[in-house]
Amino acid sequence: MENSLKGQKAIITGSSSGIGKGVALSLAAAGADIVINYAGSKEKAEEVASLASQFGGKVLVIKADVSDETEVKEMFSKTIQELGTVDILVNNAGLQKDAPFHEMTLDQWNKVIGINLTGQFLCAREAVNEFLRRGINPHISKALGKIICMSSVHQEIPWSEHVNYAASKGGIMLLMKSIAQGYAAKKIRINSICPGAIRTPINKDAWGTPDSLNKLMNLIPYKRIGEIEDIGKVAVWLASDQSDHINGTSIFVDGGMTLYPGFTTNG
Ligand code: NAP
Repeated sequence: MENSLKGQKAIITGSSSGIGKGVALSLAAAGADIVINYAGSKEKAEEVASLASQFGGKVLVIKADVSDETEVKEMFSKTIQELGTVDILVNNAGLQKDAPFHEMTLDQWNKVIGINLTGQFLCAREAVNEFLRRGINPHISKALGKIICMSSVHQEIPWSEHVNYAASKGGIMLLMKSIAQGYAAKKIRINSICPGAIRTPINKDAWGTPDSLNKLMNLIPYKRIGEIEDIGKVAVWLASDQSDHINGTSIFVDGGMTLYPGFTTNG
């Protein structure tokens, strides 16, 4: 996939950590100029930028809360001013605010929906507007633009004690498909990646000790935790012309978590 994204400009939201970091580095390694976006972790964002710079492309670091309309608009204006356009958006920023349903506060609900779902709406809307403004450049890509939404296995698997998170990911699925349906004729491609358990700070409780990691394997038929590179490789492929006929779909990168492993021995 070396140089498969040469000349393309990508914004990766929430790329100061975890999956966003992995995707940013993979896109940079494939030749893209990239924007590292963060909300609070400036130093971590700058560390990712310094790693990404080694691949030779341009790297910008932009602070923006994806749930804030003004900050999202400013992130896109700054990117267009500095890099010329946006060809790829990776809608990745997300978090969890967990509580049993009957104890969940409105603040916990609104925070997760605001960042995980409304954040994807705000960024995708700016990206689509930029794609339409710019027009197609066949020397760069067969598509007018590409959007990758970071969803989760929890767009499909219900998750008690995380209903805000599961609702945000279920929402992303139909947000993604509806945008795909509306803009396919304009040559905009939008797809989701649905990670299972990937080794990042968001779920350290699930892999941080040998015991917890062992228990996690009950949920993963392939018997290994995912790494950020597993997601980065799929993101590069989805952003490249290699996947030009893939639109409006969800790719599960989960070692089989959605195979309901509890039923392996008859349930
Ligand atoms: P992570 O390591 O905690 O990283 C989250 C990233 O999101 C950080 O860069 C954080 O930046 C950023 N962020 C948080 N709030 C933001 C906001 N308001 N505006 C902009 N950026 C914001 O988590 P992760 O595991 O990589 O998760 C990334 C995505 O993958 C999420 O959408 C998550 O739901 C999804 N996912 C993860 C897993 C998994 O197993 N890890 C599984 C399924 C889906 P700051 O630190 O600067 O705030």
